[in-house]
Amino acid sequence: MNVGIIGAGIGGLASAVRMRAAGHDVHVFEANGYPGGKLHRKSLGAYRFDGGPSLFTMPHFVDELFKIAGKSPQDYFNYERSNEACRYFWEDGKQLRAPSDPELFAKEAERVFNVPAEELTDYFNHIRQIYQHSGKIFLEQSLHEAGTWLNKETVKAFLKITQYDLFKSMHEANRVRIGEPHLVQLFDRFATYNGSDPYKAPGILNVIPWLEHGFGTFFPKGGMEEIARSVYRLAKDMDVHFHFNHRVDRILHDGRSITGLVVNGKTQGFDLVISNMDIHFVYQRLLKDVSPPERILKQERSSSALVFYWGIKRTFEALGLHNIFFSERYKEEFTALFERTDLIDDPTVYIHISSKMNPSDAPDGAENWFVMVNAPHHQDQDWPKIQQKVRKQVLEKLSRHLNTAIEPLIEEERIWNPKDIEQDTLSFKGALYGNSSNSQFAAFLRHPNRSSKLKGLYFCGGSVHPGGGIPLSLLSAKITSELIQRKNPAHA
Ligand SMILES: Cc1cc2nc3c(=O)[nH]c(=O)nc-3n(C[C@H](O)[C@H](O)[C@H](O)COP(=O)(O)OP(=O)(O)OC[C@H]3O[C@@H](n4cnc5c(N)ncnc54)[C@H](O)[C@@H]3O)c2cc1C
Repeated sequence: MNVGIIGAGIGGLASAVRMRAAGHDVHVFEANGYPGGKLHRKSLGAYRFDGGPSLFTMPHFVDELFKIAGKSPQDYFNYERSNEACRYFWEDGKQLRAPSDPELFAKEAERVFNVPAEELTDYFNHIRQIYQHSGKIFLEQSLHEAGTWLNKETVKAFLKITQYDLFKSMHEANRVRIGEPHLVQLFDRFATYNGSDPYKAPGILNVIPWLEHGFGTFFPKGGMEEIARSVYRLAKDMDVHFHFNHRVDRILHDGRSITGLVVNGKTQGFDLVISNMDIHFVYQRLLKDVSPPERILKQERSSSALVFYWGIKRTFEALGLHNIFFSERYKEEFTALFERTDLIDDPTVYIHISSKMNPSDAPDGAENWFVMVNAPHHQDQDWPKIQQKVRKQVLEKLSRHLNTAIEPLIEEERIWNPKDIEQDTLSFKGALYGNSSNSQFAAFLRHPNRSSKLKGLYFCGGSVHPGGGIPLSLLSAKITSELIQRKNPAHA
């Protein structure tokens, strides 16, 4: 079949590889001049930055793409496991260098917080079980196909998951199971891994730290952009056709089936279309003649981000690859993000320093700081004004914690705000992860991977099932291609 893919984000790239490996002729249209979408680089003077994602888990989902193409992953993509997951800093002076390994984490947390290591080991066992029972149902298959629910295994597992804090918030579950306030805050933070609020998101999402501590954290050689670049190189070697700076304007159909795409004003015929574009813009811009699924589209958007890329002309021993400086007003921080679409005066600050792993990302004796605070989705806020205010607060917080004036050390600077994120990656309201997961039903209210109205139209990427983040976007491509194979067995 002749397959058109809209967007070369990680979901679109993975779909291209899967479709080509199944023998189809594949064309990818990308509005930007580079592959990867949110997963891209920013260069400032002698500094290279991971532009978007900074945390890499579940690398086997990337490796799988090389394997299905009959290639050795190491010929394209290499990564290292990190022993340290993150360094955490609190305002009361407490600090934790969190090992990735659950047992070592429990021991270190016992040393710093005087919490019996067995309690944390029990917690890790609990979240491992959540993954074992819920991962397959919620992440690895469509929730919108009858076949899923005719499978006895799925139904059995589904009945079981109600035991996993589905009706408590993540925070409430952590408060009951862990208790120690610093550690509760540490585990609550994992709600931000899909742009959600731990005081609202269901406790079953406490599975997220299992991805980091059970499967481990990794860093790609050459930086995060290599995740997308290596899959792009693979797709090119497989003769996928890429068309950069080609924005798709319309999806064409005859009322029942897909017939093609309008790209840069020109019509091109396709038997099948996979959209990696944010689902909101698909209906708003490319399918204006199809009635949109209102209930799905009105779901709350995930949070966005305010990112400061700073070239810092000094190195800091106290900092690692990932660092978190917590706010003391955590609940209020999320209330501001999701209810007032605003930021508090003392937001939690995350710093990612890829030059700790990849020294060529910064000049000798310097570091590349990717400094991020969670921000509300874009809703016509005055971002230039907000970002100047937040910049001051962040500099003040970091200077205090690190006992060093940071501003004079900045020799390169760029800021990326939620409006920029919307414009540069065509993500509705600049949300990083599509819809938030702030309700028990969120998993069921993401857009399906297949159109129920138009035959031959499929969807992948962070704005559809199973959700945002690199691992889930890769899984969306897998689910989509399995659906295509099932619906078109003659072409498989
Ligand atoms: C600042 C930031 C930090 C993040 N941190 C992490 C992290 O640490 N770990 C993690 O796993 N995830 C993280 N994420 C989320 C992660 O980046 C995304 O969930 C994932 O990359 C989404 O991939 P996608 O397949 O949906 O495509 P996207 O990256 O959204 O790309 C979609 C592509 O489609 C193109 N496109 C859209 N419309 C059209 C059109 N009409 N015609 C042609 N092309 C079009 C766009 O130009 C874009 O390139 C972060 C994101 C950001 C922005």
